[in-house]
Amino acid sequence: MHEQSITALAAALRARAFSARELTEHYLARIERLDGRINAYITVTAEQALAAAERADQQLAAGSAGPLTGIPIAHKDIFCTNRVKTSCGSRMLDAFVAPYDATVVQRLEAAGTPMLGKTNMDEFAMGSSNETSFYGPVRNPWDRERVPGGSSGGSAAAVAAGLCAAATGTDTGGSIRQPAAFCGVTGLKPTYGRCSRWGMIAFASSLDQAGVLARSAADAALVLQAMAGFDERDSTSANEPVPDYRAPLEDDIAGLKIGLPKEYFGAGLDPGVAASIEAAIKEYEALGASVREISLPNAPLSVPVYYVVAPAECSSNLARFDGVRYGHRCEAPRDLEDLYKRSRAEGFGAEVKRRIMIGTYVLSAGYYDAYYLKAQQLRHLISDDFRRAFEQVDVIMGPTTPSTAFRLGAKTDDPVAMYLNDIYTIATNLAGLPGLSIPVAPVDGLPVGLQLIGDVFQEGRLLNIAHQLQQRTDWHRLTPSLAAP
Ligand code: GLN
Repeated sequence: MHEQSITALAAALRARAFSARELTEHYLARIERLDGRINAYITVTAEQALAAAERADQQLAAGSAGPLTGIPIAHKDIFCTNRVKTSCGSRMLDAFVAPYDATVVQRLEAAGTPMLGKTNMDEFAMGSSNETSFYGPVRNPWDRERVPGGSSGGSAAAVAAGLCAAATGTDTGGSIRQPAAFCGVTGLKPTYGRCSRWGMIAFASSLDQAGVLARSAADAALVLQAMAGFDERDSTSANEPVPDYRAPLEDDIAGLKIGLPKEYFGAGLDPGVAASIEAAIKEYEALGASVREISLPNAPLSVPVYYVVAPAECSSNLARFDGVRYGHRCEAPRDLEDLYKRSRAEGFGAEVKRRIMIGTYVLSAGYYDAYYLKAQQLRHLISDDFRRAFEQVDVIMGPTTPSTAFRLGAKTDDPVAMYLNDIYTIATNLAGLPGLSIPVAPVDGLPVGLQLIGDVFQEGRLLNIAHQLQQRTDWHRLTPSLAAP
């Protein structure tokens, strides 16, 4: 069951091949048996999932089921869930139970999806390897000595290992696409503002966006359909109608103009990954697409710009965790200052502290102009590069990451090496554009991601372009074995 697409599962539910309860029990049994090997879940919500599955079965029986009714999914532990712990991967929120559901969670629940649990993640979504989680690292299902990517590593690993049909994630600088690439699944980061941020714990508010990790582009289209849309509770949510993401999936892509940014194929790109990306581009040419080289001249600045903007916003967002209103509080504080200092020192891990310090520094009097303001100006130049590129091409393609999944511990002592992992994903967030990563030919048994970047609100087009490749090739059908060591 767990290797089937959502469409196939939904058809089987309707044909009474199995019930939503049986499907949910199947995933729960797999989580119980296999998650100890990869640590993808922080919390498993078996009881709620089974209750939701019963409701789904009633809807199926009544003939009022939608395309996701009874399809079990998981949520990244950054989304607030009513009466279920929301830790954000941090000791700070280890005991936090939100009194409400995030909009994205509400919408997927209304679509009839049982929630299997909350997935592991880098602490406060800061990381590219899932090693900064308070709950321990997630292991890559393809090779458990390697990282799954981050920060939505639990969601990506859970989808790859068949421990849920699909999962939500968030992407501030690559956190959906990079783990999707490392785990061999399809990951979509929508346009900034397409999905509501309400109830999603904030890291860098001008960059954060909710999205999907799934087994295929067609599955991702179904989940996005339920998640997307305006929400008056999020002032940055886009008041744009949500198109039908399924209808264009089968559209012919002959004549598609693909741009390959020369900056995404230069030094630093693993030759095996490059070959695999080139092979996928050849498939697109066989489908009638044409390819041309383009330039995003300011793209190489995206990592330094991001590591000023994101920490600045994080230092402000995370100021709310003060030991008074939310989360961890130290024992027996001497006075207010001691309360603040020790609660934050104990509650946050090293990477989060590093970001708060960098962010506070770049926003401080005297440095604001030199760092933060400069970064904002460069952010505009990066966006302008994309605007010019989309005057010439329909879609931009390149690798999602410079290499395949690296070994656990390989970059933990070198934050800059870790940050450079997001070199191809970050510019998209700075420009607010949608990006999709799909699995292409593996290298030495490890997955590789092809990244597709579209103009604003072109999610439907990206899913169409990805689906066409997935109709022609089987790369997205490869699954890891997860055999006992
Ligand atoms: N890896 C990047 C970071 O550490 C991106 C994280 C994300 O997208 N949430 O900030």
